[in-house]
Amino acid sequence: MTYASPKGTYDIVPDELDSSLKWAESHLWQFVESHFTKIAKAYCFQEIRTPYFERTELFLRSVGESSDVVSKEMYTFNDKGNRSMTLRPEMTASVLRAFVERNLQQLGSIHKLFYMGPMFRYDRPQAGRYRQFSQFGIESIGSSEPEADVEVISLLFTILETLGLKNLTLHINSVGDAASRELFSFRLKEFLKPKLHQLSSDSQVRFEKNPLRILDSKDLNDQAILQEAPKLEDCLSPESKEHFSKVLHYLKALNIDYHINSKLVRGLDYYNQTVFEITSGDLGSQNALGGGGRYDGLLKTLGGPDLPSIGFAFGIERVIQTMLSQGVNLSQKPVPLLYFVPMGDRAKQECFRLASELRKAYFSVEVDFACKNLKNRLKNAEQRNAKYIIVVGDNELETGKASIKNMSTREEKEINLIQLQEELSIIEGIK
Ligand code: AMP
Repeated sequence: MTYASPKGTYDIVPDELDSSLKWAESHLWQFVESHFTKIAKAYCFQEIRTPYFERTELFLRSVGESSDVVSKEMYTFNDKGNRSMTLRPEMTASVLRAFVERNLQQLGSIHKLFYMGPMFRYDRPQAGRYRQFSQFGIESIGSSEPEADVEVISLLFTILETLGLKNLTLHINSVGDAASRELFSFRLKEFLKPKLHQLSSDSQVRFEKNPLRILDSKDLNDQAILQEAPKLEDCLSPESKEHFSKVLHYLKALNIDYHINSKLVRGLDYYNQTVFEITSGDLGSQNALGGGGRYDGLLKTLGGPDLPSIGFAFGIERVIQTMLSQGVNLSQKPVPLLYFVPMGDRAKQECFRLASELRKAYFSVEVDFACKNLKNRLKNAEQRNAKYIIVVGDNELETGKASIKNMSTREEKEINLIQLQEELSIIEGIK
């Protein structure tokens, strides 16, 4: 009997044989994840890690019961103590929970955090949509200034641009403060009331629970009705307008192109003021790489101090998929730098000793101890794409000298085994 991974999940493996799954090769993930970390640190963000599951109430309270994530997509279960637990569908709630619980507000006035890891949503699996997927994200807590919004968007762009991604669109909108949204909800409901029965069933539910989210509807008939609807931008308070225009001003100054999308409200309930999303023309129907926005009141709702905050998250699968479809592949599959072929037991011991010295200095070294036949072992080295090979037999052990062969140029050079690290460094141009 064989087992398959659960629907909507995938394995990340060193070499993927299925060409449509090349994005799930581990060297790409390592490269992209270390890139995120480097850029996040350059913007002075620090890492936070939280549990993969939380008490269910946390997500009900923060993400909001009317959101698709909470109402349809959560992996919720009762543990053996009969407490309701949920695999995290997103990270903002967990980060804020940890922030309050660990009293992080005592550490200063601005808190810049980043995270990376798996999220879980019971979604209909399709290309670019999984039930376990990975996000990279950041939360910037403590500033209500538009500069904080811009720093966060700029970080996102720096990451994507330095990965070599092109053809991205930044969609941006303001959903305003509470007063702006209240006015807009009122006007929108007045407009939609006579047409309620024509709306999709999802939008009819949203009409009561969260009318703003009707703007998000993918239903074509809903979209046609919304053509004539009141506009969110006409309901923005003067403060919200000023905040938004400053954000746009700074984005221009940083040469970050944007597209104002007045229908963008984002799926979760907690957003206010700036919201944004980044799409790629090189992904299919699931074309959003990531998005985020401001969530000023959320920390207080979760029992913390009233600190304004802004954050974003993007899907690592989609970033790697976009890189591959755009032909951007900055990551090379790791290959052994040096491949030892020992002839006999004494040579094997010496090769292991030499290898362990080199490995301590971070050289990637393989010792072929498995098979006996020299021809097969040389074939192994070729197959593994080893850069250099050294065959060590009795003669080499006696003289302390061996020949190192460059497998691509076929050039051979005599080297001193006692000074192997030194000589390898010179050949590789490290010294
Ligand atoms: P969200 O938290 O829904 O705003 O999602 C932010 C980003 O996470 C999206 O733009 C996607 O890149 C990624 N994402 C969300 N849900 C999924 C999913 N089910 N499968 C793969 N990626 C996802």
